[in-house]
Amino acid sequence: MPMQADWMWMNGQLIPWEQATVHVFTHALHYGSSVFEGIRAYHTPNGPAIFRGPEHYRRLHDSAKMMRMPLEYSAEALIEATKSSIRANKLDSCYIRPLVFRGRNGLGVDGRNCPVEVIVGTISWGAYLGAEALEQGVDVVISSWRRMSPGAFMPLGKIGGQYINSQLIAMEAHDLGYTEGISLDPNGFVAEGSGENLFMIRNGIIFTPPLSTSILNGITRHTAITLAADLGFEIQYATLTREMLYIADELFFTGTAAEITPVRSVDRLPIGAGSRGPITKAIQERFFAITSGEYPDEHGWMDHVYAEGEWPIE
Ligand code: PMP
Repeated sequence: MPMQADWMWMNGQLIPWEQATVHVFTHALHYGSSVFEGIRAYHTPNGPAIFRGPEHYRRLHDSAKMMRMPLEYSAEALIEATKSSIRANKLDSCYIRPLVFRGRNGLGVDGRNCPVEVIVGTISWGAYLGAEALEQGVDVVISSWRRMSPGAFMPLGKIGGQYINSQLIAMEAHDLGYTEGISLDPNGFVAEGSGENLFMIRNGIIFTPPLSTSILNGITRHTAITLAADLGFEIQYATLTREMLYIADELFFTGTAAEITPVRSVDRLPIGAGSRGPITKAIQERFFAITSGEYPDEHGWMDHVYAEGEWPIE
């Protein structure tokens, strides 16, 4: 089933999904000149709530700046656009895909003469690595593909063309029968999954690679770090080697799509007991308690789409 919704927010207005199209000479289609986000809105008793919208739209602005791409909509305006798109599509939970790209005006590699176009798509989408994965964990492989070098690309940017690197990692992992691949950085230290950050636990301490290992500055990574601290765990930023993963007590991925997903094996070696570990479970449970509206939103992460009394809609 192709992903679909009724309405798309495009360049300032809601238009029917089928009309949200581009010309084949769109610059971004040829050269990857786009920046994007992945955001979730969660179902709560008071209707859908966007999770950490300001942080995601700040990162979108950061990515656009790196790409010298003028983005004329503020984070606040894009949050309003997101809410209008969720309302129009009558979604009570969804995945949100903002995309900013260079449009059509010639094929010069320097595309700064092309118009900058903006969309915010909202679609219904379940657990990215599978619902079962959240409980059972996933089997992963260390990729033969390295994470992009910061001297050649901008790993902190969520930039379309850079996702060739992620595609190579994901395709290889799937061809080998794994759910996901983990890349090493250009120096051989552990970086991240093709679309997730990685956490390791050993002797009760939580470790995650620093930003200098070519990783994306994940919003869910920051969420997991914050929740781990709330729960009283010690967290350290550390450059990790491949074999440290092999002998970890627990491993988990974080990402907007993957949420908090345990990793149960790496290169066919079981991690810990080969199933979700207790610290992973504690962080995961707090995460889902907040996103479902069961636990107080102490950090102000949830932004409700409907005002009180407006929900439920017809
Ligand atoms: N790394 C990469 C390469 C990603 O694409 C993503 C998904 N945006 C992440 C990490 C996780 O980031 P976030 O938690 O902000 O979704």
